[in-house]
Amino acid sequence: MDFIADLQIHSSFSRATSKSINFQNLEKYAKIKGLNLLGTGDFQHPNQFEIINRELKEDENGVLWSKTKFPFLLQTEISLIYTQNGKGQRIHHLIFSPNKDVAKQIIDALSKKGRLDYDGRPIFGFNSVELVDMMRSISEDIEIIPAHAWTPHFSLMGEYNQLTKVEDCFKDNTKYIHALETGMSSNPADNWRISSLDKFQLVSFSDAHSMWPWRLGREATVFDFDELSYKNFLKAIRTGQGLRSTIETPTFYGKYHFSGHRNCDVVLSPKESLRLNQTCPKCGNKLIIGVADRIEKLADRLEGYKRENIKPFVSLIPLHELISAVYDIKQLNGKKIWEIYNLLIDKFGNEFNILLNVKEEELRKVIHEKLAKAIIMNREGKLRLKAGFDGVYGGVVLNPGDKIKTQKMLGEF
Ligand SMILES: [Zn+2]
Ligand SMILES: [Zn+2]
Repeated sequence: MDFIADLQIHSSFSRATSKSINFQNLEKYAKIKGLNLLGTGDFQHPNQFEIINRELKEDENGVLWSKTKFPFLLQTEISLIYTQNGKGQRIHHLIFSPNKDVAKQIIDALSKKGRLDYDGRPIFGFNSVELVDMMRSISEDIEIIPAHAWTPHFSLMGEYNQLTKVEDCFKDNTKYIHALETGMSSNPADNWRISSLDKFQLVSFSDAHSMWPWRLGREATVFDFDELSYKNFLKAIRTGQGLRSTIETPTFYGKYHFSGHRNCDVVLSPKESLRLNQTCPKCGNKLIIGVADRIEKLADRLEGYKRENIKPFVSLIPLHELISAVYDIKQLNGKKIWEIYNLLIDKFGNEFNILLNVKEEELRKVIHEKLAKAIIMNREGKLRLKAGFDGVYGGVVLNPGDKIKTQKMLGEF
């Protein structure tokens, strides 16, 4: 059976997250999105762990179930900030626990290293090698996955750390790292261009800070398990067996795809940026270096290279973004966007089904032909996109003729 999983979630105890993320809302919007497996988020936070214990029931396979039978895996993310070889390092790590008992031991070990109650994604000063040792001394079934592996500020391969391969970070413990989470601004094909990454599985999760469907599940990993169990999840991550494919956002949509300066309104492709020595043509300071530059610098293979044993992936802009672009409404959480979105969900079940499967003529029976066309173009990777940079999301660029006049939009159906 297929499990479409988003395993990088935050709770309301993490900074800059929605106050209404809770298991009820996560389950509700996961179903609307088309997800059928989630991470718990922030399990090491004392309040979150209490809620997990109260609301989710563990089965013998290490899967946690809500009262209405929605499955979760124990997952958290921690930030390590430390100095290695005289250079500051900042890396976010996803941690998965095989069960509540091991989660409790992780909590005890981490609480000896620092406070856990101030942020659902706490920061520690020890290094990534120690993290692996610490986790393996608790259980060899704990899995660590470097998160959003290419973003400039807090990721293993990102610009800030100036590391060129996973071994630079994890040293001899690299053998216990089996997968990378590629983040929004890079897709698997970008990662195939770096030969030192060939040994890692590539997964995608959303890093959702709210349960809204343009955040939750915007990136996801599809597993094929005969039975849902932590063991099967581990096997998929460690061997690729049962890891079927990933759902990505187009890399242009990510907040740090191209290099640029938000305040200078400067955004440059890797070619341009590298030609200008990654310096801003407006203010003369160093640019905020995007993922595309970093990949271009580290790639030892040409664009289009396909490594062996690849998993297929699709790139999709969330449906709310498409409606926003076609109807020219900025506010993603606006009432009008939700009305159109809900029309589609009522008719076709969930967002992934709409984005991936429903035929154009079926869509046209429910929504305006211009939106139906945008959904098909999204599926086929034919939408024109502007690149995200310096913390600004990228987005869809439509010709005026492909948009709908806002005033009329609901009266038309
Ligand atoms: Zn992170
Ligand atoms: Zn500038």
